[in-house]
Amino acid sequence: MTPTDTIAAIASAPGAAGVGVLRVSGPAVPGIAAELLGRDPDPRRAHFTAFRERQGELIDRGLLLYFPAPASYTGEHVLELQGHGSPVLLDALLRRVCAMGARLARPGEFTERAFLNGKLDLAQAEAVADLIAARSQAGARAALQSMEGAFSRKVHDLLQALIALRVHIEAAIDFPEEEIDFLADPAIMQQLEALRAQLADLLREAQRGVRLNDGLRVAIIGRPNAGKSSLLNALAGSDRAIVTDIAGTTRDVLRESLNLDGIALELADTAGLRETDDPVEREGVRRAHGELARADVALLVTDAQHAEHDLALLGDLPPSVERIVLVNKIDLDSHAARYEVRSDAIWVWASAKTGAGLDALRDHLKQLAGAGSGEGAFSARRRHVLALEQVAAHLGLADEVLRATRAGELAAEELRQAQHALGEITGTYTSDDLLGAIFSSFCIGK
Ligand code: GDP
Ligand code: ZN
Repeated sequence: MTPTDTIAAIASAPGAAGVGVLRVSGPAVPGIAAELLGRDPDPRRAHFTAFRERQGELIDRGLLLYFPAPASYTGEHVLELQGHGSPVLLDALLRRVCAMGARLARPGEFTERAFLNGKLDLAQAEAVADLIAARSQAGARAALQSMEGAFSRKVHDLLQALIALRVHIEAAIDFPEEEIDFLADPAIMQQLEALRAQLADLLREAQRGVRLNDGLRVAIIGRPNAGKSSLLNALAGSDRAIVTDIAGTTRDVLRESLNLDGIALELADTAGLRETDDPVEREGVRRAHGELARADVALLVTDAQHAEHDLALLGDLPPSVERIVLVNKIDLDSHAARYEVRSDAIWVWASAKTGAGLDALRDHLKQLAGAGSGEGAFSARRRHVLALEQVAAHLGLADEVLRATRAGELAAEELRQAQHALGEITGTYTSDDLLGAIFSSFCIGK
């Protein structure tokens, strides 16, 4: 569906500012531009002009820029009006533009039109919103990469390889008179293997992209009084968490967003994970388990005396969750601050009270969050990772059925579904619900 109406919105942030920007997109733009300027505007040239009411009264003076279709952000005729950043003037200008045939844009509608007109694919459009919302430099850099198509290109490369394999298998199915043993065709199994390896790489990069975008989710766990709240305070540099000597104080989950040298962390201080009969505390323990299951990192706070025993708290976490054991309170037992990479976790000896050893913890968290992940690191969203995981599952099944049945039909079907899942990332296959959910979370004017 191609939109036929014209949309308008204030594209700059609300409130007083030096400059305010109004954006208009759609077929009515040339007429609106000509009426405001008093003549046809030159494409892509800044016209300094007076913006006037129909009767001639002056609204504001500023720049008028006209971008004819299709060389514009949305792919439609676009008009940009830059005036003084006064909400009152911008409102008056917006009303004037609407009186000439535009309507108010919904959130994200400009970018939605850019997507519908093929200017951006869906992953790039999502990156536009992520760039605007970025809370860290690393996150902004990564979102910019995705907006430029770094992620989409890799999805596209994978898609090409997938299609090549599908063609290979489906061509073979079409000649049933020659009994084809797919397993005996080394080219097919090699292609499939290469494809799975390529996908595994992309999945890892996308997972890092989600961390760069959303921040690293760290769930702090440990027995009551281990020093969880103290650690959160030390890392956050505030007294937001309550620190007391009474076991079981932190009943709810406390959250803190942290910017560690340009890297975003989402810290959650959970209730002490101990078996309890107190219903309030039991609820806290339940939430703590939920928090752990969703986290990127489980950070166990313990001390030298309890460390081996408390390790059980990290017990049945999925392997995707990174584990850190913080042996806290070294100021009490004169352990040296240090860290050690062990098979069960990274171990850090530190003191939340004195701060000793916490730099090693910070460095490790930054590394997990994707710091120093390099030039090409791109941002991604959870839905992209889920889609890639579906692709991986289908490719795994394709491999299985090829080995089990030595026939191509079932494998071809798995590959078809894998291709579909991959297409959901860039928006080749989408539902209106998905598009609605994605673009409605944008700000107005973008
Ligand atoms: P939580 O129940 O795990 O959140 O533990 P808290 O952060 O509330 O700390 C419990 C008690 O241990 C408080 O009295 C803290 O001051 C104390 N504490 C926390 N970390 C340290 C530390 O590194 N050294 C010392 N000496 N005391 C600490
Ligand atoms: Zn606490």
